[in-house]
Amino acid sequence: MTARILDGNAIRDQIYAELVHEIATLSAAGIRPGLAAVLVGDNPASHIYVKSKMAACQKLGLESFLLRPPATISTAELLIVVEELNQREDVDGILVQMPLPKPVDSKKILDAVHPEKDVDGFHPINVGHLVAGRPALVACTPSGVMEILRRSGIAIEGANAVVMGRSDIVGKPMALLLMHANATVTVCHSKTRNLPEVVRRADIVVAAMGRAAMVTGEYICPGATVIDVGQNVITDRAQAERIFKSFPDKLESFAKKGSVLVGDVHPDVVNIAGAFTPVPGGVGPLTIAMLMSNTVKAARLRRAQAAGATAARH
Ligand code: NAP
Repeated sequence: MTARILDGNAIRDQIYAELVHEIATLSAAGIRPGLAAVLVGDNPASHIYVKSKMAACQKLGLESFLLRPPATISTAELLIVVEELNQREDVDGILVQMPLPKPVDSKKILDAVHPEKDVDGFHPINVGHLVAGRPALVACTPSGVMEILRRSGIAIEGANAVVMGRSDIVGKPMALLLMHANATVTVCHSKTRNLPEVVRRADIVVAAMGRAAMVTGEYICPGATVIDVGQNVITDRAQAERIFKSFPDKLESFAKKGSVLVGDVHPDVVNIAGAFTPVPGGVGPLTIAMLMSNTVKAARLRRAQAAGATAARH
């Protein structure tokens, strides 16, 4: 059996088509949603991420603002930058690209973003709303996974779902979203005993550990839906050859580039799973799509609220 491939690029395109519609409606009301990205210092990976987020804004017609404070900025100075963005009327979403340089207190910075503009969904108020099942801005990667499941017609209600990983940005919000969608959820982590046996009970597996190709066939119940959040760059040839033994195109690409991207799920799982997200081209495209979606949502909620308050005063 070969799994159905859940195509993240196609699902992202569907979401973009819907957003273009919504952005046009907002535009007719004189509102152009705006996203501000704060990119501190010169981390090359962060540059690439922010560039693709800015490009997505441009593609959809959202306003984007890029702020580039130097790597030497202090926590107090960065707090002022964030506060200025909190006050700006033309900024609906604020993203502070992680990681920040070591001396900066990342937690303080993330907590300073106004919850209404917290399009990454990291603020404790938004996390609290998610826990309570209230409307909130929710972390982009787990929201993207829910879009993949729903738009691919995967039954969530009543399903046994296993989330591998319990980070604040992926594992925990993922487990909450699946629970609110009426799955029976188990969260696994580095101290979980008999991991393959626990994961084998799952109808839906979400792997988010940052461990290259760790989830092999012995973890997967035949026919299960496997969502691979992991993004691991491999530069070791022997490791690449071991993982991609049955995928000559990947080995060819490794030979050319000297590296290859692999998820947390072993690619051979495609022969056991019922449905499967590839890496790349699975969850990755949805993360940016949900950032765009959160920005539009934030604009709708905040500016509609402001318009309502003005109307109430008159
Ligand atoms: P993280 O903060 O490092 O968390 C990893 C989690 O996995 C932890 O809860 C850890 O358990 C658990 N874990 C690690 N090794 C394990 C093992 N051997 N067995 C069981 N559990 C294990 O990572 P993250 O930020 O959530 O990211 C996870 C992966 O997703 C990474 O590959 C990252 O690059 C990727 N990611 C992708 C996207 C995307 O857009 N596609 C977005 C975000 C992240 P403990 O809590 O016990 O330490």
